[in-house]
Amino acid sequence: MQEERECLGVTILGSTGSIGESTLDVLSRHEGRYQIVALTANSNSAKLFEQIQRYKPKYAVLCSDAAANELRSQVKSAGISTDVLAGAGALCEVAALDEVGCVMAAIVGGAGLLPTLAAVHAGKKILLANKESLVMSGGLFMEAVEKSGAELLPIDSEHNAIFQCLPAQAQEFSAKRSRSQRKTLDQLGIARILLTGSGGPFRQTPISSLDNVTPDQACAHPNWSMGRKISVDSATMMNKGLEFIEACWLFDAKPSQVEIVLHPQSVVHSMVEYIDGSVIAQMGHPDMRTPIAYGLGWPDRIASGLPLLDLVKVGGLHFEEPDFVRFPGLKLSRWAMEAGKSASIVLNAANEVAVEAFLNERISFTAITEVIDHVLQGADLVNPVDIDTVLAEDRSARGLAERRVIQLALN
Ligand code: NDP
Repeated sequence: MQEERECLGVTILGSTGSIGESTLDVLSRHEGRYQIVALTANSNSAKLFEQIQRYKPKYAVLCSDAAANELRSQVKSAGISTDVLAGAGALCEVAALDEVGCVMAAIVGGAGLLPTLAAVHAGKKILLANKESLVMSGGLFMEAVEKSGAELLPIDSEHNAIFQCLPAQAQEFSAKRSRSQRKTLDQLGIARILLTGSGGPFRQTPISSLDNVTPDQACAHPNWSMGRKISVDSATMMNKGLEFIEACWLFDAKPSQVEIVLHPQSVVHSMVEYIDGSVIAQMGHPDMRTPIAYGLGWPDRIASGLPLLDLVKVGGLHFEEPDFVRFPGLKLSRWAMEAGKSASIVLNAANEVAVEAFLNERISFTAITEVIDHVLQGADLVNPVDIDTVLAEDRSARGLAERRVIQLALN
């Protein structure tokens, strides 16, 4: 007999992005189980308007006042009752509404920090795609989850895979952060976490040509279709570096307990190795609808819309060691996690500025990690005691990174 369940109100922060659209695709397959309460974007009013027409959310948010005013009149002329709000404060409001039970955190970059934290403080079920917010605020973020009673489910495919490979009871304690019941990885018999990465589009490109690759080449990921910032992060493997830090926080792992393994096919999304020699892997298509459906449904399973995985077609699974010379960001990320204090905030901020500069063709591809290294070396690290300190460190690192970009700018 089907269990009666209450319809869960959902806010999607960043609904016009790649994760946002995949989330809407999964939600649209489960009408009656979820109610879309709020959709948000930065400036893409055309796509947000299309989503409003189709999903009729109660609220929609755009960051700029002017764009929100224009969207408001469009919505009104179309006879739709969606309330259009403007500004960063409104992102936090729609993340914390009483009628919302679940928030998909899918804004890209540090801009996602405050809205995601607003959802955490309000005790929501958080589907965390916005890894940058956790990389920036680390311990403060996890403490806030524990204090508010929020439920934290990793959506990044690797962390979602790791979560799925944990013992069932440990999943429960991991999502609910109940410190008293939580066991360490050692107590769970976990020897290490194997974080897989495809190696991106430049895994085999001669290192001497990397200086000349274009933004479009960097964004052409062989397996995944994603937004431009994370696509560049995948090409430099800074994405894996950020994920390494994310894994340490999510699973209370020491840096020495997380190993990065290259797996070009992106079929195994990560693994957990136990002390008895068992390696448990989660596999699936390289499509974010699987982790999104897992997060939405957890602890139940719901359909994602994907076909079954044809392992015969996959044929073989290949693994190799990452090349730390080709991908210097991997070492910088490990260094930042080990250094603690504000190092991860600085790393993330410098990366965001450098990626933006590369996408705007101001600096070369290889200059991205050069900028991060330079800023990490020049930064005075502090203890991030509260979110204001996190934001101040973020601002200061962005300033240093922008200065380095100007020095390195292509003529
Ligand atoms: P996209 O660039 O495709 O989308 C980003 C979304 O955030 C858009 O809705 C965008 O609005 C909004 N946004 C951008 N800047 C701001 C801002 N300053 N304030 C408010 N909203 C803003 O990114 P992705 O969907 O690819 O990635 C989203 C997050 O998920 C990232 O943190 C990424 O690392 C993570 N992630 C993504 C994966 C993927 O497959 N794409 C996989 C795993 C993690 P607008 O359209 O108006 O610009």
